[in-house]
Amino acid sequence: MRHGEFELIVTVLGEIAPAELGPADCHEHLLIRGGLPIVLEPDFALDSVDAAVAEVGEFVAAGGRALVDCMPLGVGRDARGLVEVAERSGAHVIATTGFHKDRYYAADHWVHTYSVEAIVELLVAEFTEGLEVSGYGGPLVSRLTARAGAIKVATSGPIPTATELRLVEAAGHAQVRTGLPVLTHTDDAGSADVQLSVLTACGVAPSSIVFGHMDRHASVAALAAICSTGASVCLDWMGRHDRRPDSYIADLVAALASAGYLEHVVLGQDLARRAYWHAYGGGPGLANLMESFPALLHKAGLSDDQIDQVLVGNPRRVLNRTETPLA
Ligand SMILES: [Zn+2]
Repeated sequence: MRHGEFELIVTVLGEIAPAELGPADCHEHLLIRGGLPIVLEPDFALDSVDAAVAEVGEFVAAGGRALVDCMPLGVGRDARGLVEVAERSGAHVIATTGFHKDRYYAADHWVHTYSVEAIVELLVAEFTEGLEVSGYGGPLVSRLTARAGAIKVATSGPIPTATELRLVEAAGHAQVRTGLPVLTHTDDAGSADVQLSVLTACGVAPSSIVFGHMDRHASVAALAAICSTGASVCLDWMGRHDRRPDSYIADLVAALASAGYLEHVVLGQDLARRAYWHAYGGGPGLANLMESFPALLHKAGLSDDQIDQVLVGNPRRVLNRTETPLA
């Protein structure tokens, strides 16, 4: 197979060519139903498909076209709901397999005891066979035809737990088998280094990794250092207008552009609270990224072409599958 022929992004409604993707939010949460996260924080409950359709509708009306739902296995992912949101809103929705942080899994959850090899098979099957409707909440396995389009991993604090390290390793092996991009949750400035070393030890190319949330805790120099490995960063602490203006992220994008790393930058919003959604009576709403943020990028000094690269061109590349044995 010639390079270039292998170009597919896996959405819940099927594979698309990267050129079809359009402006993308690379870290979002459309539905969170069940699991420990909403027990720990009731405001995480994004439990209405109708609300998600309305909110994604605003995002599409503002010029958005694609969103990655970053809720992986066992923490409230609603695979069936994601398919319905994609069908009714017209947006490309990419579902993630993989894992969130240790604290979101009960002490007796299988993530703590299954072997790395067994977990790799569970992840790969979400790509080859389809998303498991309960996130392997078991004991019965029931799959949709919709497949996983990305693999999520997460580590917490400066020292990841033993479970997290095993799950990142499993995700690394699954990436090599499937070619899916790895999207990460980081908790602090050192998280990316730990995740990078575990993933690359499994054979994952840095170009298949997008480190999330690093704008929350890393300097421009630290972000540039990550990009220099060939990996990408998702700047996604957007819309917290009560805590930090979005112009902070726009300035980070401009600084990374000046350092020569613009092609390693994608954007997300991570608006995983009812308080952030218009459909639940809050704000700024999912449309924020497409409605307000481009003007801030302009103000920070980016050209139209550069803005297009961050919102469209880079997501096309980082969400694309690489060639694998399963191709
Ligand atoms: Zn998130």
